[in-house]
Amino acid sequence: MTNATLIILGATGDLTKRLLLPGIGSLIAGGEQADLDLVEGLTVIGSGRSELGDGEWRDTVTTAFDGVKASGAAADAILERTKYLQADSTSADDWKRLLKEVDGDELVVYFALPPAVVFKVAEVLKDLDLPKRTVLAVEKPFGTDADSAAELNETLRSVVPEDQIHRVDHFLGQRATLAMLALRFDNRLFNPIWNADDVERVEIVYDERLGLEGRAGYYDSAGALKDMLQSHLLQVLSVVATEAPSAVDAVDLREATAAALRATRVWEHGPVFPNTDAPSRRARYTAGDVGDKHLPSYVEEDGVDPERKTETLAEVALEVRTARWAGVPFVLRSGKAVGAPRDEIVLRLRPVRHRPDGQTGDAGRERIVIGFKPPRLSLELTAGGGSMPFGLESGDVSATLPKSPVTEYGEVMRGVLGNDPTLSVRGDVAEQCWRIVQPILDAWGKDEVPLEDYPAGSDGPASWSA
Ligand code: NDP
Repeated sequence: MTNATLIILGATGDLTKRLLLPGIGSLIAGGEQADLDLVEGLTVIGSGRSELGDGEWRDTVTTAFDGVKASGAAADAILERTKYLQADSTSADDWKRLLKEVDGDELVVYFALPPAVVFKVAEVLKDLDLPKRTVLAVEKPFGTDADSAAELNETLRSVVPEDQIHRVDHFLGQRATLAMLALRFDNRLFNPIWNADDVERVEIVYDERLGLEGRAGYYDSAGALKDMLQSHLLQVLSVVATEAPSAVDAVDLREATAAALRATRVWEHGPVFPNTDAPSRRARYTAGDVGDKHLPSYVEEDGVDPERKTETLAEVALEVRTARWAGVPFVLRSGKAVGAPRDEIVLRLRPVRHRPDGQTGDAGRERIVIGFKPPRLSLELTAGGGSMPFGLESGDVSATLPKSPVTEYGEVMRGVLGNDPTLSVRGDVAEQCWRIVQPILDAWGKDEVPLEDYPAGSDGPASWSA
């Protein structure tokens, strides 16, 4: 049992309510002794500038726990001890009050704050006397470019050593990402074909039906490229493309995935997308219906500045320049207000070298598909045995991947509370991810790539569907 204190900065925000607190609850609901050991002695202090009574805060925690069916002694103990402290985390005086709540030498500070505030708080923390075993958990986006990420790294490392810093990316804790590690390295079927000789193209796609949902304050200065591709989807790419680590731990796995990202560049070998030579495309939704919900045009949403030209749909083509992957486009895509959203990792296999004469049919190329929500695997294969004796047809083999009561943020909290950074982003990797997308940000900044339109509820601009 730990006796750690977890201080959540930005406890009145969306992340805390919707993901962090349920994540802690899911560790309890999962019932694994190792997880219970992490939370049984935990004191959770919520903090923010807003006024909030202890009762109201306790209700927030209770609702989050109920939502994931967390109950029993561990949940009760957390609820009994938890409290809310009104404080401005950029004030050293307020921190002195916060630190009085820490009983013992184990402290976890979770920055559930807007990115612009994180740097200011870290500047304050470096001059404070923190408990010896202080762990910092910082959300994405980590900085705004490679230089600011490097500066933030330096400041955080002046507060605690690198191995006590968790740069959170919950896509690393997604079941699909974790399942892919096992699929790749623990299956004879996949391991030998996971390379450029057999794979023609990789797609990592995370579309959603939701529009802006009132988040213009953050999203309008980020957009799909920074919000999704630069962080989450590059982390998934690093797991798809990595060489086999000798161990799945914070040193070997993270070094192997970092090496894949160091080798990643914007695609330079000619057209990947129809009607353009550019290795990226971008678009913004106009008014339309997503299911039975009508969405106004993105530029009409409260808080949006049309002059920022923020994209709500982005696609980029990258190359992982290693002996395993050179010459294979990795296409990353994410969009909002998409009518039939895809969320999956797809490896499209090359055609066989020769089909026996006499075989007919238009079976497509084979694909390995790993879905995010729900976690699933499907193999799209070419099969015979249809109405024509030697005809070829497509057939699917599908499986549901193992589920867990521990949510993605449960995985995050497991790593943070146990100070095991295997599934958090290393400092140099946070900088690399900006380096990878910078040529695209530059091209978009110079309007070299047009900002296209698509109606909310469609799958993107009509010209993209080719
Ligand atoms: P919110 O906009 O909901 O803000 C969180 C809290 O931060 C607010 O409730 C506010 O509390 C505090 N805050 C806001 N502005 C300031 C300020 N200027 N100075 C100090 N505190 C401030 O953000 P989210 O909860 O959505 O996101 C928090 C972090 O998590 C961000 O980095 C985001 O990118 C990341 N994230 C969010 C996800 C989500 O789904 N929400 C998913 C993945 C990552 P108060 O006013 O009480 O101080």
